[in-house]
Amino acid sequence: MSLLESIIKKFVLQDAVITKKIQLTESAYSIRLQSESIKKAEFEPGYFIRLGIGIGNDDLSFKDKIRSYSVWDINKIDGYIDLAIATESKGIGAQWVENCNEGDSVYFKWKKGNFLLDATADSYLMVGDLSALSHLYILNRNLPENKQVNGIIYSSHTQDFFKDINGSNPFNFHNLPQNSTKEILKYIKATLPNMPGEKMVYIAGDSRVCVTLNQFFRHELNWNTKQIKTKPFWNPDKKGLE
Ligand SMILES: Cc1cc2nc3c(=O)[nH]c(=O)nc-3n(C[C@H](O)[C@H](O)[C@H](O)COP(=O)(O)OP(=O)(O)OC[C@H]3O[C@@H](n4cnc5c(N)ncnc54)[C@H](O)[C@@H]3O)c2cc1C
Repeated sequence: MSLLESIIKKFVLQDAVITKKIQLTESAYSIRLQSESIKKAEFEPGYFIRLGIGIGNDDLSFKDKIRSYSVWDINKIDGYIDLAIATESKGIGAQWVENCNEGDSVYFKWKKGNFLLDATADSYLMVGDLSALSHLYILNRNLPENKQVNGIIYSSHTQDFFKDINGSNPFNFHNLPQNSTKEILKYIKATLPNMPGEKMVYIAGDSRVCVTLNQFFRHELNWNTKQIKTKPFWNPDKKGLE
């Protein structure tokens, strides 16, 4: 382990132990990270973590040592967070989650970002792929009961979809190949007339879809930027993203 990595591990990252690993579907796992520090963590729905999946692995380049994962659920009384990690990328993060074991130690850092819960609208549309599903689920669970929420979630295999952590199935799933923006727009256009009052859209996952849909809402529908929340989680030309 390099000196820089040792310093980051000791002074920047917090440690936790994997206390639960479940394969949700053929291409997604849920991982529970437990630590005393989580009991005292400041948290808002939409926070994510930088997970040091490659800390201590000298065969990996520095940019392959960290991946970002959204907090799917948190229990501050018992001191744990749950993540849902998709493996379609087949990258270093996907390999890590396939091979990690309960009892392993991990290192992580909290990140707030700006893809957070905003409860000021009346109705919401959530659009994303499997990598974004846990993030959209936690936002949905934390919206007040009186809000209407529609979800358009897509993946190339129907059997990849997983339910929310409480067993609910609040979103519509669509079987679509990667970057099917035309079809996604068709579903969006069919949903919008049924959304009452002030509307807000959350778009996450594939950066190409985020860009196209952002343009649609801004330039074709003239939505205010405050109504459009986008967060690219991955980019086909890049490894990792943040
Ligand atoms: C704020 C934030 C929160 C995130 N939260 C989550 C989360 O909760 N769960 C989660 O699974 N991921 C999440 N991601 C994405 C995650 O950080 C990784 O980018 C992703 O897991 C891929 O990492 P990897 O090392 O497996 O593949 P990489 O080595 O990064 O990529 C390998 C190849 O796969 C492609 N690729 C990457 N992701 C996908 C994908 N989903 N489908 C198809 N191809 C892909 C890349 O473009 C690249 O060509 C989040 C990203 C951000 C920025």
